[in-house]
Amino acid sequence: MSMIEFHHVEKYYGNFHALTDINLTIAAGETVVLIGPSGSGKSTLIRTINGLESIQQGQLIVNGQDLAEKRTDINRIRKNVGMVFQHFNLYANKTVLENIMLAPRLVLHRDETDNHKTAMAMLDRVGLVDQAGKRPAQLSGGQKQRIAIARSLAMHPKCLLFDEPTSALDPEMIDDVLTVMKGIARDSSMTMLVVTHEMGFAREVANRVVFMTDGKILEDDPKETFFDGQ
Ligand code: ADP
Ligand code: ADP
Repeated sequence: MSMIEFHHVEKYYGNFHALTDINLTIAAGETVVLIGPSGSGKSTLIRTINGLESIQQGQLIVNGQDLAEKRTDINRIRKNVGMVFQHFNLYANKTVLENIMLAPRLVLHRDETDNHKTAMAMLDRVGLVDQAGKRPAQLSGGQKQRIAIARSLAMHPKCLLFDEPTSALDPEMIDDVLTVMKGIARDSSMTMLVVTHEMGFAREVANRVVFMTDGKILEDDPKETFFDGQ
C-alpha cells in the first residue's frame, strides 16, 4: 500500500513556481531521504503532505485520502502524519510532559492514565525520561528535538515527516537526534520522509534518496544506486 502519492503536482507562491510536475510514490513503511540545494522546494514538498501548503494542480493522496478533495478532513490526515520541524515548535510555557500529552488528549481524547503512560514510554524511547518536568528553555537543542520527536510519536502516526531536523543543532547534538531517528526507521513500520543533509543517515537507513532542484525531482534512486555512484 502507498502512504503518499504525488501525481503531476504543481505549487506556486504567487507567480513563483515552487513545485513542477512532482511525481512521487512512497510505500507504507519506507524511509525516504529528500535532498537538494537550499531553495529547491524540499520544505515546500513535505509541507504539502499534511496540508501546511496547498497545491494548485495535480493529485496528492495521503493515507488513501485526496488532499484536493473538498470533503477530505485535513485533521484526519494530521492525526496520521506527524511532522518534526527544524526549530522544534515546542510550547515554551508547558513542561516536556505536557508538550507530549497535549495533542493525544485534545485530538485523540486519550484517557489520562493511558496518555501519561504513553508519554513516559516515548520519553524513554528518546532517552529523556529524567527531563519530563522541565520546560523547553531548560533543554539543549538536541534534547528539544528529541522531545519534539517523542511528541510526534505519542500520536502513533503512520507517517512522520522531518524538515531538516538537525540543521539548527550544534554539531555535538546531531548524533543523539540521528540515533533516535535511525531507531525509529529500523524498529517501526512507520513511513518516514526526511529532508536532511546528513548522508550518513541516508546511507544507514534510507530505502531511497530523492534529489530535488529548482522545484523538480531530478533523481529518485534506491539507496544502493544512489551511493554506488559516489
Ligand atoms: P528548500 O526547503 O529546498 O530550501 P523551500 O521549499 O523552503 O526550499 O523553498 C523553495 C522556494 O520557494 C524558495 O525559493 C523559497 O524562497 C520559496 N518560498 C518558500 N516559501 C514561500 C512562501 N511562503 N512564499 C513565497 N515563496 C516561498
Ligand atoms: P525554516 O528555516 O524553519 O525551514 P524558512 O526560513 O525556510 O524556515 O521559512 C520560514 C517561513 O517563511 C515558512 O513558512 C516559509 O514558507 C516562509 N518563506 C520562505 N521563503 C519565503 C519567501 N521567499 N517569501 C515568503 N515566505 C517565505
